[in-house]
Amino acid sequence: MLALNSLETDKMQTSKRISCGLWVVVAMLFPTPSVRASAQLREVSSQRTSSLDSHDHLLLLYNTHTGERIDIVYRRGDAYIPDALAKLDFFLRDHRTGDVRHFDPRLYDILSDLTASVGRPGGEIYIVCGYRTSSTNESLRAHTAGVAKNSLHIQAEAIDLRMPGIDTLKLRKAALALARGGVGYYPHSDFIHLDVGRVRQWCFDCPANFSSTPRPASSHPSVGKPVCPTQGFIAELFTRMANRLGPNVL
Ligand SMILES: [Zn+2]
Repeated sequence: MLALNSLETDKMQTSKRISCGLWVVVAMLFPTPSVRASAQLREVSSQRTSSLDSHDHLLLLYNTHTGERIDIVYRRGDAYIPDALAKLDFFLRDHRTGDVRHFDPRLYDILSDLTASVGRPGGEIYIVCGYRTSSTNESLRAHTAGVAKNSLHIQAEAIDLRMPGIDTLKLRKAALALARGGVGYYPHSDFIHLDVGRVRQWCFDCPANFSSTPRPASSHPSVGKPVCPTQGFIAELFTRMANRLGPNVL
């Protein structure tokens, strides 16, 4: 009886595998428009990356304020390319005043790794904000909510961004998983803030029931559990405090 059940189970699993296989073949023969579009995007991205040296780190950025676009290799192996960094500094200038400041290049590594994390290595990033002079930051603070007094944008250590075609919540989760600095989420303005400060997170103007700690990608019970039982609690407590106080203290 046990053997029969086992045989039946095997048959069912084989049937499921065949059924799934047929769907894959059908999907490949008759892709939907969205599947075709995403496949084309991946193709363009892979063409760009395959034409480069495997040691090249590249960025494709679009500035939402100036309309400028830059497609640049900023690092080769472990060496940053000074000329490329200078071009990126100018690209990320305070567009209100024209002031330029040298950016911490670790931010570019985070951006590059982020595009890979969401399945678009070298994919286009929309820059919502780069460098801010102190005067621009004060002006923004006076007219806009959610701007920090000592924002790391003033130090050229922070960037606000989104990626076309990528859900910003997914982008936030990927950035949090990298754990390389601060990650702010601004759902109403549809962007995330990234910086090279200490690892922390906040969500600006999120609903009270918003889960500040994303679930791990895998449902395996051992994945994402804090090493120390109190570690998760303390992290959550800090996050709740940060969310309550807002980014002005971060
Ligand atoms: Zn920001």
